Amino acid sequence: MTRAWVEIDLDALCRNGAAVAARAGVPLLPMVKADGYGLGGLRAALALDRLDPWGFGVATVHEGDELRRGGITRPVIVFTPILRNEIDALRRGDLTPALGDPAVIESWARTGRPWHLQIDTGMSRAGMRWDLVAEHRALLARARPDGVFTHFHSAELDDASRDEQEQRFAQALAALPDRPALVHAENGPAVERRAPSRWSVCRPGIFLYGVAGFEGGAIAPDPVVSMRARIVELRTIRDGESVSYDATWRASGTRRIATVPVGYADGYQRSLSNRGEALLAGRRIAVTGRVTMDMTMFDVTDTDADLGDVVTLLGRQGDDVVTVSEMATRAGLSPYEILTGLRLRLPRRYAEGAREVVAA
Ligand SMILES: *Cc1c(COP(=O)(O)O)cnc(C)c1O
Repeated sequence: MTRAWVEIDLDALCRNGAAVAARAGVPLLPMVKADGYGLGGLRAALALDRLDPWGFGVATVHEGDELRRGGITRPVIVFTPILRNEIDALRRGDLTPALGDPAVIESWARTGRPWHLQIDTGMSRAGMRWDLVAEHRALLARARPDGVFTHFHSAELDDASRDEQEQRFAQALAALPDRPALVHAENGPAVERRAPSRWSVCRPGIFLYGVAGFEGGAIAPDPVVSMRARIVELRTIRDGESVSYDATWRASGTRRIATVPVGYADGYQRSLSNRGEALLAGRRIAVTGRVTMDMTMFDVTDTDADLGDVVTLLGRQGDDVVTVSEMATRAGLSPYEILTGLRLRLPRRYAEGAREVVAA
């Protein structure tokens, strides 16, 4: 019997992808980097493949190779800058780099293979500055990119930054010798904010995995991930007795405490200590004391909890749901950290078309 596991609803993932594609009105370039935001990059890509996406986005050559080994044949873009000594590895994997550095562009161009030009319009992270494109026009005429894109730094906010970034992007596009076949800019929150897309493809990430960029958007994602664990011990403690490291929680009166075999090494964040809430048989139960590496304790005083009962730490149980966003708020973290923090120690159970597939 599995003691603790993560469930991933691949049908919900695809519904979320279809909702973004319908709203944007352009094909998807789903971001499956960081192992599909912690939910399994290859599994996510194989499931999303049926939406006929343009291609997939990853962060590293290693992640791209995993998709190729798993049978993904569509274009795969590596979105972090590559070093020149990685060029051979990208060729071997049939991966498409996102480039911004003139020297690396020069070297890649000798391969004659496709690449995308990244324009830095204000994120100051990767890509060629928008106001330097004109200066590199000769290079870009020799080494023509197949695609050009930028990335919004605050798409989830309703501020003027997007307009400014789009103006800079337009300026960069105008400075190119010609317009590449593919032009893209939007992440998930950008599509939630404004549609239809003005570009050729869109690049959603977190929305696919069940998290909205902000409250009250035009489309809402279905939850994709749940974390569940069985109660492995129960004890009754007396007034004033403490629970867990550093004794940060003390019982007022007699309390019943349940131990579940999930801790911060599984991605149940330590900052949920004394703050997290979980679901048990239709009720909310609270974390008592520090979350430890392998175990977390809950106050189950007002329940009839038994050994082996399933606690839902993340996801839906009955009529209630602990969303990734709720967990992130309680933990004082971003939803991106909650998802990518889900660790491989927990077995993953994938559900697709009412079938359940258990994978380690
Ligand atoms: C991660 C990433 C995305 C997806 O962002 P979300 O906020 O998860 O939708 C899109 N484009 C680039 C370049 C990224 O790095």
